[in-house]
Amino acid sequence: MLVLERRPLVGGACVTEELWPGYRVSTAAYLCGLLQPRIIRDLDLERLGYEMLPKDPAFFSPFPDGRRLFLWQDARRTAEEIGAFSARDARRYPEYKAFLARLASFVEPWLLRPPPDLLARRWEDLWQMGRLAARALRLPPRTLAGALRMLTQSARDFLDGWFDSPQLKAALATDGVIGARGGPSTPGTAYVLFHHTMGQAAGRRGLWGFVRGGMGAISDALAAAARRAGVQIRTGAEVAEIRVRDGRVEGVTLTGGEEIAARVVASNADPHRTFLRLVPPEHLEEDFRREVASIRMAGVAMKINLALDGLPDFAAAPGRAPGPQHRATIHIGPTMEYIDRAWEDAQQGRPSAEPFCEVTIPTTYDPALAPAGGHIMSIFVQYAPYALAAGSWDGVKEAVADRVIDTLAVYAPNIRDIILHRQVLSPLDLEREFALTGGDIFHGEMTPDHLFFMRPIPGWARYRTPIAGLYLCGAGTHPGGGVMGAPGYNAAREILRDWPSIARWRR
Ligand SMILES: Cc1cc2nc3c(=O)[nH]c(=O)nc-3n(C[C@H](O)[C@H](O)[C@H](O)COP(=O)(O)OP(=O)(O)OC[C@H]3O[C@@H](n4cnc5c(N)ncnc54)[C@H](O)[C@@H]3O)c2cc1C
Repeated sequence: MLVLERRPLVGGACVTEELWPGYRVSTAAYLCGLLQPRIIRDLDLERLGYEMLPKDPAFFSPFPDGRRLFLWQDARRTAEEIGAFSARDARRYPEYKAFLARLASFVEPWLLRPPPDLLARRWEDLWQMGRLAARALRLPPRTLAGALRMLTQSARDFLDGWFDSPQLKAALATDGVIGARGGPSTPGTAYVLFHHTMGQAAGRRGLWGFVRGGMGAISDALAAAARRAGVQIRTGAEVAEIRVRDGRVEGVTLTGGEEIAARVVASNADPHRTFLRLVPPEHLEEDFRREVASIRMAGVAMKINLALDGLPDFAAAPGRAPGPQHRATIHIGPTMEYIDRAWEDAQQGRPSAEPFCEVTIPTTYDPALAPAGGHIMSIFVQYAPYALAAGSWDGVKEAVADRVIDTLAVYAPNIRDIILHRQVLSPLDLEREFALTGGDIFHGEMTPDHLFFMRPIPGWARYRTPIAGLYLCGAGTHPGGGVMGAPGYNAAREILRDWPSIARWRR
């Protein structure tokens, strides 16, 4: 068994890279929450170096008027924080969390199994759909109604139904727009919000955190588990073509011309790249290619990584010594209207005039990621539309990054003075560096028309493809994006069902 990776290191968008001497940065993905406990256990990832550092407080939102909101892991402290904005919201918040938890415990078992394919109409699929429906009917009626609504609702409508305080709603809406082509008012963003509340990587539902050694420690642990099972890993090995003969996969050809024969190929590249670039067009029907081409892949995010020689001093929570404001996910997006405005710019092909940012400082949990006294800051920025109405990303990205720093300076005025180095990854850079088509961080939108048995496209949700022996195993398949492991786990099980000889090889 052989893994081929085009970059010099494994991990894709889940890596740690030493960008500047002594600064080890999670270049792309920065927080872990969705990684499946079953995978952590099965592959013994903790023994292979994976260590989760749970985040507390979960969120810190500074507001322009100098107020601030912390959401803690402790329910009583959170209620006090929310109570400063709305006593009713403080009472409602535990109920809101319980609603999401009930929904998550309903959905989570479906993360580690292929979705029933309603369109295939085989007995097995119908049976699975029946089981799903039976479980849905066991949900309390209000939870079921809420779940159905959530599939199509905007994060704004969903949150308006729960809360009054604009500050709390803005803080919670961020989960609905991360990586999404839409603002809080865009239908479908309520599901994205929910997607981010699933997962129990830190042993508690909805708890997110940092990973010791950066996100690459997850990929390194997975690579060690693979090597232990006898898998060979080659980096700097880019597949130029997936070779097919008579409807069956034959192997791959690397960019240097080397041919590698294989009866089974599992592609972790996104569906556009796999089917529109790697498989020669004559091997796929036009309808299939057209359906794949219709998967929306146009990223809206950019990532800025900074090396700092101190910590930001927030007007809303002053102090340059490490404090809870530095240990939380910091949201720069004071109202849902602000985030909607930022999205409206992107719809016109312009980077947001006032960007929405999710900021983290992993060195407050893991100081070894930087030299003594130094810090790393990760800024996930929206919106940065892949297709610009004017100019090119290479031409504008530094100016856009300056605007992001200016925005941050409104809340933490010392930020400019403490920056030692910066890396700016535009959506075009995300495409070039990580092979993410269109800079789409999720290998395709996470909207209801691209989820469950519709992911990647209707009729092909079970990791198989029209080419015998070729499988998809990345975020473009069910259950979608995020550092989760689930698409690969499910694809591996389907491959083993089709090719039991591979399981025998392992033993
Ligand atoms: C900026 C950014 C921030 C994110 N933040 C988070 C976060 O905080 N938390 C979270 O859970 N998720 C986050 N995500 C999403 C998450 O990283 C992805 O959903 C996840 O990495 C998908 O994993 P994957 O293995 O399916 O695909 P990828 O990570 O995209 O890996 C695909 C791999 O295939 C390789 N490849 C592609 N084509 C070829 C070829 N022709 N030959 C050889 N190799 C090839 C690529 O180089 C890459 O290594 C973020 C993503 C980005 C880009």
